[in-house]
Amino acid sequence: HGDSKDYDSETESVCPFCGVGCKVSLKVKDGKVKYVEGINGPANEGRLCVKGRFGFDYIHHPHRLTKPLIRREDAPAKGLNVDPGNLGTHFREATWEEAMDLAATKLKTLRDEDPRNVAGFGSAKCTNEEAYLFQKFIRQGFRHNNVDHCTRLCHASSVAALIENVGSGAVTATFNEVENSDVVIIIGANPIENHPVAATYFKQFTKRGGKLIVMDPRGVGMRKFADEMLQFRPGADVSMLNAIMNVIVEEELYDSQYIHRWTENWEAEKEHLRAFTPEAMAPICGIEPAQLRRVARTFAQAKAGLIFWGMGVSQHIHGTDNSRCLISLALMTGNVGKPGAGLHPLRGQNNVQGASDAGLIPMFLPDYQSVMDDDIRAKFNNVWNSDDFSNEKGLTVTEIIDQAYAGNIKGMYIQGENPAMSDPDVGHAREALAKLELMIVQDIFLTETANYADIILPASALYEKNGTVSNTNRQVQRVRPAVTPPGEAREDWKITVELAQRIGLNWDYTDVSEVFAEMKLTMASLDNITWDRLETETITYPSLSETDPGQAIVFGDGFPRADGRARFTPASVIPPDEAPDEEYPMIATTGRQLEHWHTGSMTRRATVLDAVEPEANCSMNPRQLKLMGIEPGELIRLTTRRGSIEIMVRADRAIAEDMVFIPFAYVEAAANILTNSAIDPYGKIPEFKFSAIRVEKIEDA
Ligand code: SF4
Repeated sequence: HGDSKDYDSETESVCPFCGVGCKVSLKVKDGKVKYVEGINGPANEGRLCVKGRFGFDYIHHPHRLTKPLIRREDAPAKGLNVDPGNLGTHFREATWEEAMDLAATKLKTLRDEDPRNVAGFGSAKCTNEEAYLFQKFIRQGFRHNNVDHCTRLCHASSVAALIENVGSGAVTATFNEVENSDVVIIIGANPIENHPVAATYFKQFTKRGGKLIVMDPRGVGMRKFADEMLQFRPGADVSMLNAIMNVIVEEELYDSQYIHRWTENWEAEKEHLRAFTPEAMAPICGIEPAQLRRVARTFAQAKAGLIFWGMGVSQHIHGTDNSRCLISLALMTGNVGKPGAGLHPLRGQNNVQGASDAGLIPMFLPDYQSVMDDDIRAKFNNVWNSDDFSNEKGLTVTEIIDQAYAGNIKGMYIQGENPAMSDPDVGHAREALAKLELMIVQDIFLTETANYADIILPASALYEKNGTVSNTNRQVQRVRPAVTPPGEAREDWKITVELAQRIGLNWDYTDVSEVFAEMKLTMASLDNITWDRLETETITYPSLSETDPGQAIVFGDGFPRADGRARFTPASVIPPDEAPDEEYPMIATTGRQLEHWHTGSMTRRATVLDAVEPEANCSMNPRQLKLMGIEPGELIRLTTRRGSIEIMVRADRAIAEDMVFIPFAYVEAAANILTNSAIDPYGKIPEFKFSAIRVEKIEDA
C-alpha cells in the first residue's frame, strides 16, 4: 500500500475471517476497498495475518450476487451444476418485490400446512443483530426452535461441556492473558494457520520463558516453539488427559483449597482417574509415561496455566468428554479465575461466539437461556409481543439435514451458511437439499448451497454492513460499512426484517441499533454495553459498570452454577465411531490452511490468497508416500465409506504415517464427501477429525 493520500476515505471495522477479531482500517478509493491496515484493537494491537491484510477483494469479485434470483421452471434438476458466470439455464433475475413476495407466500403455505415444515440456518459470518433477528424469525414466525448455525460443526461440544461444568459457554480468560501465564497448553488447535494473530501472542509468551505444551496428532506449527510436543494417537485425547490427571492425583499435585472452595464431585473424579495410569494409557495414546508425568508436573506446579483448544478436541463423537477432561484439569489445579489462568476454546468464525450468544442455537435463547423454561420464554414473548413457542429443544444442523432427507422438513431459509460444503457426508447433505420444496438462500455468492436454491437473495459482505460482532475473547466490537453493497444487494438484517413483515410478524426496526437495544432487554451479558460506548470502545463482556472496559478473566469469585461451584465430570475412553480396517486402513482428518477460510467461498475469490494456494491438496507422511510409490504433487484417490475424491498430495513429515490431512475449502475435491456424520451425543457435533480411509495411487496419473 501507499502513503496516507492514496485513498478517499477510511473506515474502522473488524476482520471478517477468524474469531481473533482483529480491528482493521479499510482504505477506500473510487468506491472500492484498496487496502487494509491493522489498527489498535485489544485482540490484535495493529497486527494482521495474511487473510486480514490481503484477503479483502472478494467483496469486489464479479461473482457477487447483485439481484434477487428465482429458479426457472424449466431449470435442470437441482445439483452442483450451476455456472456462476452463466446462471441463465437455472435462474432468472427478479425484482426484490417479486422474490420477497414469492418467498413469503411459499413460507406461509408451508407454515399453514405445518410450521415444522420450515427450518433455518443462520450464520456466524453475520453480525450479532442479524443472528438475533434470524433466531427470532424462526421462533416467533414458526413457533419452534429448529434453528442452528455452524457452531454445531465447530465448538458445540466444548460449549456443552463448559455450560455443564462451569455454567457458561464462553472463554474464562482472553488469549492475551498468556502475558500472565507460566504454562500454556494448546491442544487440538493449529493457531499458526487458523488464529494467526493469537499465535503471535503465544510466540511472545515462549520468548519470555513461558512453558508451552502442544498436544496434537499432527505436528502443528506451534511445536517449533514448544517445550513439550505430545503427538498423540488420533482420537486418544481422553486416555492421554486422564493419564496426566492421574499423575496429578497420585502425586497429590492438585490444589486442595481451590477444589474445596469452588468445585463439586471431586471425590468421584479422583476415584475415576485412579485406573488411568500413564503405563496403562501409553499404548492407547502413544505418549511415553515419562512425558505424561513431566507434563502433569509442569502444569500442576505452575503458578498460572491457560488451556487453549480447537476443533481437534471438539470434532469427535467424544468431543464433550475431551472438553470435560480439559475443564477438570484446569479445576483440579486451581487454574480458573485468576490472572494468566483459564479455559479458552479458540472460536473459529469471526462471530461464532456472538451468534451463539444471540441465540442462534436450537436449545438456547439469547444468553444461553433454556427454551424449556416457561418463565424465560414468557420473558421473550413479552419483549417480542408474541404468543408462546415450543418448549422443546430444536433440531441441530445435522438433524435438520436428516429430516430434510426424510421429507419431514420441506422448506429452509439459509442465511450465509454453506451446508453443501460444510456438512459431514456432504453427498447425503446435498441430496437432502435437493429434496426441499422451498430453499431460500441469502448470500453474497452463488455458493455450492445456493446451487440448490429456489430463491436467492443477494446480501452484504461484512465490510458493507453496520452492527456488532463478538470475538473469541468475548470482546464486542462495532463493524461499519466502508463501501456500499454491489447492485441491488442489501444488508442481511434488512432482508430478514422485510421477510418477517411479509409473513405477518410485528417487526418495525428501522435501524440496526434498535435491534441491539432489544437484545439488551433479555441479555444480561450486554449490561453496561451501549451502542454509544461501542462507537469508540471495544468492550469485553461482562462489563461491570459504564466505565468498565470489561472483564478479561471471569469466575474468580464463583461460577454461574448452583452454589457457585464448578463441577468435575469424569470422562471414560470411547473409541472413534469407525476403526481402520483392511479395506480402509488409514485415518483421515480435516482442517483449514492459513490462506483459505472454511468452504472457500470468500478466500478462493480473494486474488492474493487464491494465487498463493490455488489447488486442492492433502498431506501425507513422506515415508508412507514412498512406501506406496507416490510422488509428492501426484494426484491420489481417497475413499471412505461415504465416497471418493481425487486430490493432489503433498509430503509433510509432521503427519503420522497412517494419517491423511485434508483441507476442506476445495469444492473440486471436497473433503466432506469423505467425512463421517456420526455425532457426539451431547454437543451433537460430527466426527470430522476421524474417518477410516483408503489411499490409492492413480496408476494412469
Ligand atoms: Fe483476520 Fe483472524 Fe487473521 Fe486477525 S488473525 S487478520 S481476525 S484472519
